[in-house]
Amino acid sequence: MSGASDFDRTIAFCEAAIQRLRVHRHPAYPRNYEFWYTYATGYNAALNRAVNETLDRDPSISEADLDLLYETYLSPLRLSERVDHVGSRILTEIAEVADVLKDARKSSDDYAATLQRVSAEADRLGPVGQALGELARGLRDTTERMVDRTRELERQLAASHDEMQELHNTLEVIRAESLTDPLTGLANRKFLQGALEQNLIEATRGQRFSLLIIDIDHFKAFNDNYGHLTGDQVLRLVALALKQNAKNEDVTARFGGEEFAIVLPDTPLSAAAAIGERIRRAVMAKDLVKRSTGEHLGRITVSVGVATWRRGDSAQSILDRADSCMYVAKRCGRNLVVAEDDARAMEPAAARVA
Ligand code: GH3
Ligand code: MG
Ligand code: MG
Repeated sequence: MSGASDFDRTIAFCEAAIQRLRVHRHPAYPRNYEFWYTYATGYNAALNRAVNETLDRDPSISEADLDLLYETYLSPLRLSERVDHVGSRILTEIAEVADVLKDARKSSDDYAATLQRVSAEADRLGPVGQALGELARGLRDTTERMVDRTRELERQLAASHDEMQELHNTLEVIRAESLTDPLTGLANRKFLQGALEQNLIEATRGQRFSLLIIDIDHFKAFNDNYGHLTGDQVLRLVALALKQNAKNEDVTARFGGEEFAIVLPDTPLSAAAAIGERIRRAVMAKDLVKRSTGEHLGRITVSVGVATWRRGDSAQSILDRADSCMYVAKRCGRNLVVAEDDARAMEPAAARVA
């Protein structure tokens, strides 16, 4: 029996959660309690890692931090996965009930046909047989009504199945939308976070990965000169250049405003830097022309930072290193790719990168 040990264990989690609520002065709303309870259990490794990193930076975890962490590690995961799970089960059960009904209807059909034959045979047996025939016809009529009713049920069940399938598909679309940047169609920051977590797990099993951070140079000036809408077109164009130069298994994301990131599974630093260089050239090669007027807007460039996985890395630490390299590229004049191996040589002041 696990009852008693479950009791002790869960009460211990509960007490740890309440202790956290007290220490951080978070109101004991169910959501906040759930958050700290989950943390206390340690079952959600990604959540615990992210909380620990946040605590390392600042021991007083704010409600805004909690909101963000909950949103990233608990809420979307739970909701969509639960609905998905329930939806799949309902679909399976509907299909099973439909099979049972179909079998029942087939048996009833056979039974009605037999009764039909019996009544025809009985009619040939004189007056007694005719009475029997009447009885068989009565039974046949009842059976046929039952068959009709079963058919109707089958139709209703098929309609429910279709509706359920549609809900399922809608959920898929919503999930995809919640992980996509609407302007560029690339993955959004939330998706990137998930991809990094996944790659960190793979890396500890032997499949290392690299990360590119790509930031458009002097984009504020571009926006100021040509307007925000034209700026948006440029963001789409850069997104396209990234997609065209990344492989299918790479995760290309819009990290924020005019900043992008690519996670490159199974790619060492030098190969990642080569991809960064390809991207830099591809962006620079584009001659920007305003669609509505044909006006030439010149060229834009990007600065790229490249980091590769190190043992003990977290999502934040590898992002920080790639970001630091990108800033070295900015300080060295922009339109440049800087990998973490080069960063120190290029700019001794950037020693924190290495
Ligand atoms: P740097 O070379 O140092 O990166 O300079 P920058 O001007 O690119 O960088 P800064 O961070 O000063 O400005 C970023 C600009 O990106 C500010 C804003 O005008 C623009 N931006 C951010 N998000 C969007 C967006 O969604 N659409 C458009 N059109 N512009 C955006
Ligand atoms: Mg910029
Ligand atoms: Mg920027």
